[in-house]
Amino acid sequence: MTDTSAPEFGTLIGGEWRSAAEHRENISPSDRSDVIGRFAIAGIGELDLAVEAAREAFPRWSRTSPAVRADLLERVAARILSDADALAELLAREEGKTRNEARGEVTRAAHIFRFFAGEALRLTGDHQDSVRPGVTVTVHREPLGVVGVITPWNFPIAIPAWKCAPALAYGNTVVLKPAALVPASAAALARIIEEEGCPPGVFNLVTGSGALIGDALARHEGIDAVTFTGSESVGVGIAQAGATALRPVQLELGGKNALIVSDDADLDIAVACAIDGAFFATGQRCTASSRIIVMDAVYERFVTAFRERALRLRVGHALDPDTEIGPVVDAGQLRIDLGYIDGARAHADAIVHGGDLVEGSTAGHFLRPAVVEGLSASAPLNREEVFGPVAGVLRAEDYDHAVELANDTPYGLVAGICTTSLARAADFQRRSDTGMVMVNLPTAGVDPHVPFGGRKRSSHGPKEQGTHAREFFTQLKTAYVRP
Ligand code: NAD
Repeated sequence: MTDTSAPEFGTLIGGEWRSAAEHRENISPSDRSDVIGRFAIAGIGELDLAVEAAREAFPRWSRTSPAVRADLLERVAARILSDADALAELLAREEGKTRNEARGEVTRAAHIFRFFAGEALRLTGDHQDSVRPGVTVTVHREPLGVVGVITPWNFPIAIPAWKCAPALAYGNTVVLKPAALVPASAAALARIIEEEGCPPGVFNLVTGSGALIGDALARHEGIDAVTFTGSESVGVGIAQAGATALRPVQLELGGKNALIVSDDADLDIAVACAIDGAFFATGQRCTASSRIIVMDAVYERFVTAFRERALRLRVGHALDPDTEIGPVVDAGQLRIDLGYIDGARAHADAIVHGGDLVEGSTAGHFLRPAVVEGLSASAPLNREEVFGPVAGVLRAEDYDHAVELANDTPYGLVAGICTTSLARAADFQRRSDTGMVMVNLPTAGVDPHVPFGGRKRSSHGPKEQGTHAREFFTQLKTAYVRP
């Protein structure tokens, strides 16, 4: 039933908030009676207007002083921090991560804007002598133009931030299409960017269906590049559209990340890393540790402690201060999680700990974390991305076997090892076929000022974040000058 009392949100196009003909209710996964708002379902007409506004704004924005762009990003960062409590509550309400986790994500979004405020002023080029006497060569970076930004639901403010902040810092204009499940955080960010003085058309927000306006944005003739984070299948379609149009595409996709527990690990550290990596944020992180690979010598000790801790995690409403694991994001994702868990239960060799529905005081999608032993490395639960609080445990005969299992996946986002051996840590860092490696740390949890991204089917195109973000959000120009 439509809740007509819930606040209504439109699109931000050319500096104006516009009402829409159709809306979608944004419902809290912690409590399905809690309607956060009614958000615009934009159509192709609105998307065209947003792209047009971004095109019109580009020439001027790309030529503004970097100090102007830096100042805007600084103000956005400061405002996110001053509004952090309210933003965190909204994010926890709409996505389901706990209030503390949401606070961490909001703070990270602010730090990203602050970092890229500095980057606007740090964009460097090269100056070289030509092989021709008297001629000099400069190599410098210019913005791409209009960037289409398409984001997933699991980091409703941080992912829009880590794509939009560098795009704006380097002089691009933006059309953001956030995931349909989490428009409220994106709208709150858009309002901050607008209220902090972003010129009309430089940043535009269109909310709605991925299949309709996400797809149309990725194929739009008026854009110059697309940065996308989401599922592999959608990402492949976006890459194909980019190849046809011959324009840059950056993709951050799925993961099936391994955490190795070495036979020389500090097991308290290993359990803490596995619990955080596998279950915090309800396991809904592309960097989640979904395969825990444990060496034979410590298998029983580690798994006993790991599953006991997992089963004690308090699952509940995201805003309840006692909650350690919030709800699954929606009924569809819950079905997927339960499908993998039921598939494992049907297998004679599998032992499933947890993985049952939890009764809450509100009508939410509450799922107890699942630890699944005994399945082969090729079983779907150990092979495919689940994207929920589900960890498969694999037994490795020795260290080489553990590394082999860790690399035996089509994905290559991140991998971790818990070990007290410096030599083993260094060896794993070399042999892991992933874009990121963690030693005695959870696989999830990264810094905002260094490159983020994977290998194989996890990522495509230049890395995100840190100074390397310029590799995607700018293009090189080589100028030869004879004075
Ligand atoms: P999704 O692919 O369903 O949706 C992502 C975005 O694409 C949404 O905005 C959606 O509306 C839009 N979209 C859907 N269909 C589209 C189409 N045909 N054309 C264009 N856009 C379309 O992904 P999701 O369910 O929102 O997010 C979960 C996925 O995101 C997981 O696979 C996860 O691993 C991945 N993810 C990856 C990273 C990373 O950095 N590697 C980070 C977070 C999430």
